[in-house]
Amino acid sequence: MIQLYHVSKRYPNGCDALNDVTLRIREGEFVFLTGASGAGKSTLLRLLLVMERATEGQILIGGRNIHVLRDSSVPFLRRNIGVVFQDFRLIKNRTVFENVAIALEIMGLGRKEIERRVNQLLEGLRLIQRAHSPVTDLSGGEQQRVAIARALVNEPAILLADEPTGNLDPELGHDIMQLLIDINRRGTTVAVATHDAYMIEHYGLRTLVLHKGKLLEDRPRVSVRPGQDVRPPPSPLVYGSPLAMQPPVAAAESSLASAADPDAVEAP
Ligand code: ADP
Repeated sequence: MIQLYHVSKRYPNGCDALNDVTLRIREGEFVFLTGASGAGKSTLLRLLLVMERATEGQILIGGRNIHVLRDSSVPFLRRNIGVVFQDFRLIKNRTVFENVAIALEIMGLGRKEIERRVNQLLEGLRLIQRAHSPVTDLSGGEQQRVAIARALVNEPAILLADEPTGNLDPELGHDIMQLLIDINRRGTTVAVATHDAYMIEHYGLRTLVLHKGKLLEDRPRVSVRPGQDVRPPPSPLVYGSPLAMQPPVAAAESSLASAADPDAVEAP
């Protein structure tokens, strides 16, 4: 689903943020993208969102070569990619509901449909009680959940998150990770940029390690021991992934089938 072939990015100041990176992220996978500060993680996410263009190489998303995508087509690509930024980027003087609804308003959906989708999502993310609170009244963990709700509301196939647990205490960080794992189990491809070595070690998910713009290592998922199922039961999350349109059982089965090794996800 996401393929990079020999991708390099040189900024105008001569900095080589990415250097000959080739990788593939399959549909329904969960990957961590890690490396020290300045390794190129955010640049890679920005290239996938076409906020920047690669200097060399090809990037394919869902089979489309985004390197040659016209500027006018970029908004259509972005509808398939939800993004959670490190600093949340919520609209401060708006409520939780308004922050999540905005993407659907831009798409021109009717008020009833917007209310239905946003409320369903807020319910699933345990935010419904806060729907009409200004986002500034929320805790850091709640604000991060609003940012995730906003990223998911137009049912993207891919979710990109830049340091989603970076500003949270460890317990809230695990809550957010569990939420991202649930979202992935329901069929969304998830890529999380993080430098949090503990999170990476703890969850044992596929990890792409960048170092000074180069892909240093591609660590596969860690398998659990035979007979050991450490997965927590999926939370009662309801949200608008592409698979949410299917009956729950079919959705669960197909999302598990599309993941490389779902049993490898470890409970926090
Ligand atoms: P990370 O997200 O891993 O911290 P970044 O992708 O932000 O890394 O940055 C990779 C390198 O590119 C760093 O050396 C950084 O200073 C440089 N860089 C990032 N953005 C720009 C920019 N807009 N202009 C010039 N250099 C940049």
